[in-house]
Amino acid sequence: MKEFDVLIIGGGPSGAMTGIELQKRGFNTCIIDKASFPREKLCGGGLTQKTMDLLATHCPEIDPKEYAIGQTQLVDFYHRTTRITHTKIDDPCFFTDRKLLDTSLISLYKVKGGTLIENCRINSKDINFNENKVTTGSEVFQYRYLVGACGCSTLFTKPFNIKRNDFFCLETRIPKEQPNDEPCRIYFGAIKIGYGWYFPKNDHDVLGIGGENNEKQIPAQAEAFFREATSKPRLPSKGAFIPSGKKINALTVQPNVILVGDTAGFIDPITGEGIYYALLSGIYAAESIEQSAKNKANQLIAIYSAKCRAIKQNMKWGFLFVRLLYSDKVMAYFIKALQIHPRFVKYYLDEVMSSYRQNYKNFIWHYFTKVRNKVAQ
Ligand SMILES: Cc1cc2nc3c(=O)[nH]c(=O)nc-3n(C[C@H](O)[C@H](O)[C@H](O)COP(=O)(O)OP(=O)(O)OC[C@H]3O[C@@H](n4cnc5c(N)ncnc54)[C@H](O)[C@@H]3O)c2cc1C
Repeated sequence: MKEFDVLIIGGGPSGAMTGIELQKRGFNTCIIDKASFPREKLCGGGLTQKTMDLLATHCPEIDPKEYAIGQTQLVDFYHRTTRITHTKIDDPCFFTDRKLLDTSLISLYKVKGGTLIENCRINSKDINFNENKVTTGSEVFQYRYLVGACGCSTLFTKPFNIKRNDFFCLETRIPKEQPNDEPCRIYFGAIKIGYGWYFPKNDHDVLGIGGENNEKQIPAQAEAFFREATSKPRLPSKGAFIPSGKKINALTVQPNVILVGDTAGFIDPITGEGIYYALLSGIYAAESIEQSAKNKANQLIAIYSAKCRAIKQNMKWGFLFVRLLYSDKVMAYFIKALQIHPRFVKYYLDEVMSSYRQNYKNFIWHYFTKVRNKVAQ
């Protein structure tokens, strides 16, 4: 039997960051992943400035050149095929290939002394939550704390009848359209709730679409969107789930088991940015375990919930914005408003998306007050 203070299932950004931060704090940890690194992960790979800042602060050993394979300060919004805004943002938006980013993080985890077990898929029946044990074949892992970091898998939610509210994405790769200074593009109108994206990287570009898939309509809509957005030859598209941002699935499922990243359901409901919250929740998980381990009574749930409160609040307001935005009447008005008020777009991109200097609540109130004042004049 192998004994660890903390066992982490999943070595993506959330699991790796949890492991890195716990190793820094002197915990004996193990990450188990079904894949072996470097591994592919379907993702647009967009990294905002706040994500770059988080990585620089918590993983200064990693040179951004290891994983950042493109950047731009130009963002174009489209409605179907018509460009409606062209904005230069203050901080660049960076792009990564997840094979590179996730390998950098997991390598740092190993340098910090963490144990990584690869090619090992954990199934629900392998986890004995009452005895704090995970069994894989002939190996038994005993843990004090367990962290669920296995993306949108239902490993931690299904056994506890917790419903996931995931959206679905499809993505394809295409040859680069322009060599330099190409804007990233956001497309509205191809799908009812969700959007399309075009992200320029160093040696290829990425075209994707994601959103609500209740009627399993996304594959057909994606095909039409890809044809509309580019005439270039493209690789066969691949699909993956992403949290919808409707609400958190669960932060904990047992007093000593916490969930991070996509497993918990963390995502920016408007942009679909998940890497930032995956890293941040990993940091919070490590801090919570450290604080909880110092107390006699197990206060892990209370500590972790308190740390995640601001994320939950921001997601709540962000999802409210999504509901307003994607209603038929508002979307038509919104498209017009974007064209008439380019400063609104820049404010959102700089102050909210890139930096979270303004959270969604402040952002909505800021503009609601402006509109109300205009009406009153
Ligand atoms: C098409 C698409 C585009 C996206 N674009 C962006 C973007 O541009 N920017 C952004 O910030 N976010 C984006 N996201 C969201 C982002 O990919 C996720 O939020 C992020 O990967 C979450 O990290 P994580 O560590 O929680 O999970 P993951 O990155 O999914 O990592 C989970 C890990 O767990 C392992 N695992 C899963 N199940 C098991 C199991 N049973 N046993 C053992 N190991 C297991 C997997 O192999 C994997 O390594 C996108 C998502 C999709 C689907």
